[in-house]
Amino acid sequence: MTTSFHPPVRTLMGPGPSDVNPRILEAMSRPTIGHLDPSFIALMDEIKSLTQYAFQTKNKLTLPISAPGSAGMEACVVNLVEPGDKVVICQNGVFGGRMKENVERCGGIAVMVENDWGTAIDLRQTEEALKANSDAKFLAFVHAETSTGVLSDAKGLCALAKKYNCLSIVDAVTSLGGSEVDVDGWGIDAIYSGTQKCLSCTPGISPVSFSDKAVDIIVNRKTKVQSWFLDMNLVMGYWGEGAKRAYHHTAPINALYALHEALVILKEEGLENSWARHQYHHKALATGLEAMGLAFIVPEADRLPQLNAATIPEGIDEAAVRKALLEQYNLEIGAGLGSLAGKVWRIGLMGFACNKKNVLLCLGALDSVLSQMGASIQTGIAVTAANQYYTQESLSRI
Ligand SMILES: *Cc1c(COP(=O)(O)O)cnc(C)c1O
Repeated sequence: MTTSFHPPVRTLMGPGPSDVNPRILEAMSRPTIGHLDPSFIALMDEIKSLTQYAFQTKNKLTLPISAPGSAGMEACVVNLVEPGDKVVICQNGVFGGRMKENVERCGGIAVMVENDWGTAIDLRQTEEALKANSDAKFLAFVHAETSTGVLSDAKGLCALAKKYNCLSIVDAVTSLGGSEVDVDGWGIDAIYSGTQKCLSCTPGISPVSFSDKAVDIIVNRKTKVQSWFLDMNLVMGYWGEGAKRAYHHTAPINALYALHEALVILKEEGLENSWARHQYHHKALATGLEAMGLAFIVPEADRLPQLNAATIPEGIDEAAVRKALLEQYNLEIGAGLGSLAGKVWRIGLMGFACNKKNVLLCLGALDSVLSQMGASIQTGIAVTAANQYYTQESLSRI
């Protein structure tokens, strides 16, 4: 007989989903109420203002899309880009390529600025492209490339967008909560994130925000948004201002309880403290990995603390290592993606999963599994090296 599903208890240190804070799972199990219930409307207002806090924005059109990060990307593109619009897209990993797909499916013209995988987006090259395409309307880029573990200079890129009269479209799926994201300060026009990375929430929701300039474009389009579900002109009727909310789609009620709790937790900790915590544990992990003899593919200045892309020792079957970590330690780390498949592991330190216990678990488990497989690593010192870092450095000094 088929019975209830009870998942194994894992430690999630891959590219997402990350470990979900038990407070969030508890919030999610509370009774479902109607999506137009006055209590739910009040919750929606709180979610909007907490999302504004997380993004550091006063943008009125700030809300969670009822679908994962990919839908947030699509929501930004389909609402802004009309047929014939030119979009300069910076690509330095997998997710920039998806932006191109989205733009082209809207009839837009994608002008690609290609950067090597594992490097940050080059500002000079981007400026050249903007100069050469003075008719471009948008500049789109991924702030934190989860496929490679690179953090790009979003502030500098948004300043370039402004200088060349473009609106900026920013992927902050992996950066939000783990690294500084300043929507109003940097002048971001459209941004999307996801719940399952540094917000440590269950997957399936995508917080988004649009500037007044972006809203102006959305309400004055010549053509209808090609997606009915993601058309902000319609979604605003449900998520918009005031008490008069009309049915658009049934909100994922319990998933929004979860997002609310995740954002409350982020606010309790404080944005700056959360960014510092990610940096702190990243440094400890890096110290251990490097002591073991594993290298980072990303130069130190461009490393994304919440996603560590580390090389695989010579002659080691990387999938067998991940399988052993899962079986022996209930520990999940990620494989390489796209052109980095088979070349790196991606070790996530996201949100609730970004802590000392996980850093030490991961280093000890990798050390043991790699030794069992006869890898040429420095064995038995990674955990000690990380512990030394923890003894010498304190979070308050990061
Ligand atoms: C995970 C991720 C996405 C896609 O999010 P989903 O929730 O998987 O749809 C988009 N961009 C980046 C940078 C990501 O890391």
